[in-house]
Amino acid sequence: MAITEAISSGTTALCLHEYLDPVVAAEVAADLGIPATVALHPEPGGTAWRDTLRQVQDTGCSAMLAGVNENDPDHTPEYLRELVTHAADLGIRVHTHVSETTLRHETTRARTGRSPIRYYQALGLLDHLYAVHCTAVEPADIDLLADHRVPVVLTPSSEALLGDGTPPLPALLAAGARLALGTDGSAWAGSEDLLAELRATALLTRARWGPEAVDGAQLIELATLGGADVLDTPDTRGAIEPGRRADLVLLDARRPGLRPLATNGPLSTARDVLAFAATGADVVETTIGGRVRYRRDGPGLLTGDELAELDERARRVWWDSGAATATSW
Ligand SMILES: [Zn+2]
Repeated sequence: MAITEAISSGTTALCLHEYLDPVVAAEVAADLGIPATVALHPEPGGTAWRDTLRQVQDTGCSAMLAGVNENDPDHTPEYLRELVTHAADLGIRVHTHVSETTLRHETTRARTGRSPIRYYQALGLLDHLYAVHCTAVEPADIDLLADHRVPVVLTPSSEALLGDGTPPLPALLAAGARLALGTDGSAWAGSEDLLAELRATALLTRARWGPEAVDGAQLIELATLGGADVLDTPDTRGAIEPGRRADLVLLDARRPGLRPLATNGPLSTARDVLAFAATGADVVETTIGGRVRYRRDGPGLLTGDELAELDERARRVWWDSGAATATSW
């Protein structure tokens, strides 16, 4: 259901970090026609994950390996080296939370004598990393991330909701890091709406670092070319030009908030309006790879029965995992 929300709010490619059932996530993404990279967890010392990987790839989705975060008790140096070996063998990346909070960052520093990024570098993981969050990274970490061309995905509204802080977007931009934005998923951010994430990123970044900290064009680039780049499709997606896949999102610009008449404020260009004011609710059509996958006034992505079936399937995966706690509603 999160995937349907992403498509209907204008997302045309996904990276899914799937804790419970990566194969179901991949099947649903494939059914709905959105390219997805699914990150799955190899069990330490085991081989069963290789079957899961194959099943994910059989759906047509790409795969990544997934670590959790630098302080996960399972992440012994031996396990992290195991991940490096698998990643190098398979030529795929390791999706890992990095410095998501100051506490995690400082705990790693106290435990290893290094920042999480330097710790990963010491273990050989840096060049295989897909670094998510990066809220508490230090200036030296930012240089390392940029120098090693590590894909970095920021999720500012999730961090704000958790009270973690705001990722240092201006410093990452200035360093030339490979950057994109993510939502961190509905469970953490309350939404899969990437346009809302652009607006939240603008608000949080400008509130902290001033009005010059980020502009509309930079945010749109993070959401388009940036996303295509971190998902390893820099030449085929992320821009509208001959030779690329036709990923097109149509917005209804008649809403008053998207038609500001004052041109001397922060919403003086169409780019700024798109980055700072639009949300997924303004999306009327999403085309992925040349095929219309969502039309607001059309039949919708799924029928009510299909939605109910997906909901039921998600609940089953959740309860079967043994990790379930009841949501109060
Ligand atoms: Zn996360």
